[in-house]
Amino acid sequence: MLRGEILAVGTELLLGQIANTNAQYISKKLAEMGISCFHHSVVGDNPDRLEDTMKIAMNRSNLIILTGGLGPTKDDLTKETIAKLFGRTLVMDSKALTYIEDYFSKKGRTMTENNKKQALVIEGCEVFPNDQGMAPGMLVSEGGTHVILLPGPPKEMQPMFESYVQPTLMRIAGKSMSIHSRVLRFFGIGEAQLETVVSDLIDSQTNPTIAPLASDGEVTLRLTAFTDSKEKAVPMLDEVEEKIQARVGQFLYGYDDTSLFLELKKLLEEKRWTLSCAESLTGGLFQGEYCSMSGASQTFVGGVVSYTNDVKQMLLAVRPETLASYGAVSEPCAIEMAKGVMRQTGSDVGLSFTGVAGPDPLDGQPPGTVFIGMADKSGRTNCVKLELTGHRNVVRQRTCKHGAYQLMKWLGE
Ligand code: ATP
Repeated sequence: MLRGEILAVGTELLLGQIANTNAQYISKKLAEMGISCFHHSVVGDNPDRLEDTMKIAMNRSNLIILTGGLGPTKDDLTKETIAKLFGRTLVMDSKALTYIEDYFSKKGRTMTENNKKQALVIEGCEVFPNDQGMAPGMLVSEGGTHVILLPGPPKEMQPMFESYVQPTLMRIAGKSMSIHSRVLRFFGIGEAQLETVVSDLIDSQTNPTIAPLASDGEVTLRLTAFTDSKEKAVPMLDEVEEKIQARVGQFLYGYDDTSLFLELKKLLEEKRWTLSCAESLTGGLFQGEYCSMSGASQTFVGGVVSYTNDVKQMLLAVRPETLASYGAVSEPCAIEMAKGVMRQTGSDVGLSFTGVAGPDPLDGQPPGTVFIGMADKSGRTNCVKLELTGHRNVVRQRTCKHGAYQLMKWLGE
């Protein structure tokens, strides 16, 4: 039988600067899973006291879940202390390192040496990926005792718990109950707004639970049901989804492992329509993303990277008067680009992006101003103006996602 215990690490908890909500969350989860939890402790960022507390915990519990102290700074010492207790070393986890390197390059930030420390894991442990941050979680099992290390920030810890720790605990506890999840994917609504709109449901739901997650401009809600069969889980998940759909259904674009690009591709396949794209600020990013999906050639014919005004005129027949009167970052230019690329490639739909990636303004428009142009073979056109925030490459990436989303919405009208 598992005897659980939660140990939160962090001096700010002892100073009363933050409340130990991680212990509350984990306790609730353990109770839902039928796993006993007999103790909560808090210890500061001090390796000696952490070691002492761990020794006491290991004497009375065989499942110890720690949160905090996995970050890159000097006072983050949890894994070093646990490794020492088990007589193990820290080893570099190549998957975690690649993830951290990608994270920095996506954000356009330079990775410092101490960030690499976050990819060090305890020798022989099971690694839990961190889908919302950088420090991975870990499970160290020895002699019937299981020690789980989780990151401190609740926004990282909770999704890791739901996706990886829960299934692992069910396995260790040999429970016949199983976990059934459904991920609802939203776009066009901010994380804070979505959470506010469904917060009463999140608070009152215990089975299935609802967990919000945000990444790369998208928001998801993970519904998780505990039950002994899939047949029982489906109606439970349907019922909660219905309540959520009634409030924010207009922003829901897909389920589970899908993406905006995949959904756009499916829609074009259904309509048997082909797409072409003219890109200015995104410089081919949209086409690169689209073509990374296998089978893209059934719906994508090609496109143009028209960065300068000359190329916009030469390859897309954007009129000089349009550029002179409205500038390249404008609705008329976006629509002419979309029409131009559709005409030149013979596709059924043309999509275009023109805007200011930043950091400097352009044509009197602030960074983040983007126009997405759309045209189809029936002669319809559409343009959506965005005012995005963020670093240059964040603006470019978000522009592509908005492009896929807005085009899907428009084609569905
Ligand atoms: P980081 O990479 O952010 O340093 P970490 O795993 O090292 O993560 P800590 O440095 O211990 O975690 O804590 C980071 C933040 O996470 C804290 O400032 C606090 O906001 C939050 N946090 C940590 N522990 C808890 C807890 N027990 N309950 C609620 N929030 C917590």
